Order: sequence, then C-alpha cells, then structure tokens
Amino acid sequence: MFDAGVNLTSSQFSSDLAEVIARAKNAGIESMLAIGCDLTSSEQSISLAEQYQLYCTAGVHPHDAKDAPDTLYDDLLTLLKSSDRAIAVGECGLDFNRDFSPRPIQQSVCLTQLQLAEAIDYPVYLHERDAHDALFSLLQEVNVQGVLHCFTGDHNALRRYLDYGLMIGITGWVCDERRGQALQDLIQYIPLDRLLLETDAPYLLPRTISPKPKSRRNEPMYLSYVAEQIAHLKQCPVTEVMSTTSANFKQLFVR
Ligand SMILES: [Zn+2]
Repeated sequence: MFDAGVNLTSSQFSSDLAEVIARAKNAGIESMLAIGCDLTSSEQSISLAEQYQLYCTAGVHPHDAKDAPDTLYDDLLTLLKSSDRAIAVGECGLDFNRDFSPRPIQQSVCLTQLQLAEAIDYPVYLHERDAHDALFSLLQEVNVQGVLHCFTGDHNALRRYLDYGLMIGITGWVCDERRGQALQDLIQYIPLDRLLLETDAPYLLPRTISPKPKSRRNEPMYLSYVAEQIAHLKQCPVTEVMSTTSANFKQLFVR
C-alpha cells in the first residue's frame, strides 16, 4: 500500500519519526507522500523524503495562504525542481470552513499553484472544505491532474471532481461511525480505480482500530483500517482495494 498523505513534519512525530516509518514499512506501506503545507514544511518534507526514500509535495495550504510570499510561484518551482522525490504541488486548495486566511487570498494562492502544476505537468494535492463551488471554478481555469485529498463533500461535489478527472483521497474519516456516515454512503459511487488511501497522520486515527491504541496519534501503519472499511462498504476483497489503490498511486505520482 501507499499512504497518499501523511504530515511527517508535524511536531507529533519529532521524537520518533524513524520508528514511525519503520513500523509503516513493517505494516506493508511501500511508500508514502509526505505533505508540505508552507514553504518551510515543504523544504523539510523534501529532506525527509530523500532521507527515507519517500515522496513529497511542495505547496501552501489555504490556512497558510495569508503568509505566502509574492514570489510563491518561483519559490515552489525551485523547491520542486530541487529533488526528484518532490512529485506534486500542494497541499493547496480552499478552506471556507475555518477561514484561517481571507478567502480572496486563499483563491489567488490556490490559483497560482494550479497554474504552476499545469505549467510543469505535476499533479496537485488538493484540500477543500466547504468551498466546492469556488474550488471547482478555479479548476476550470486550468487543466490539471491530481487528488482531492480527505474528501468529505456531498454527492454533487464528488460527481464533479470525478468528471474533472481527479482521484479521490479517503482517510480514516470513513471509519468514523458518528461523522463519517455521509462519506460511507458515497463510497459506492467512487470507482476503485479513482480512489487513493491516506491516513492524514497524525490526524484522523481510524475509530475502527480494536483494541484502541493508547495514543490518539495516527500513524501510516494504520492505513489498512481505511482499506478494510472501503472493502466492507464496496463488498469486495481488501486485497483488491489495496492493489488497485497502489496502482492508482503509481499512475498519478510515480511518472
Ligand atoms: Zn487537508
């Protein structure tokens, strides 16, 4: 399996990152995509990806859009070209749920990154919360491939992202019996060949883990719980979920 989204630069991993990665490998995680969410964490993700033979993104998250420099396009281009481990633009997108950056700034910083991805033909790693219409209209201005990570939207949003050609990233959100119900109902509408598995660790610990771990910190080694829940919802073998989503990861990111 490939974990298509993990926040390895989080301070929650600073004391035992080598063990976290070793446990993931032992659990059958072949590789993972380390997510950058601003210029500093993108640079750190590149170092980690090189050190541990992983993949990574470089980009600016909508929460951090307010601090993006005017030179963002060139700064990200330099970072992405500095390592063949950096294989996607992101995490970028729009978050109108928490609104940590003013919406017009989120939109322009996102568009800059979409245009960069299009220009250099790299996939995008997209974040969207309560901003489907706005993100979709930005996507109309470019022609990019990528993944809508940690999808939690409605059926209409799902259909439009799929029609655009994006992969859909599913996290442990789908394992949550309380707030994950709507997502569980939509899994049947996501073709397996358009789905990516991600933990979004250290966040979103799957609630289906039994017995519950002592720590609430999520780790890439728990990715199989996401795969198992999708297999359960799709009524198909978990081995099929694992092999197809791995092929999807390679097709999108390892080119
Ligand atoms: Zn996100």
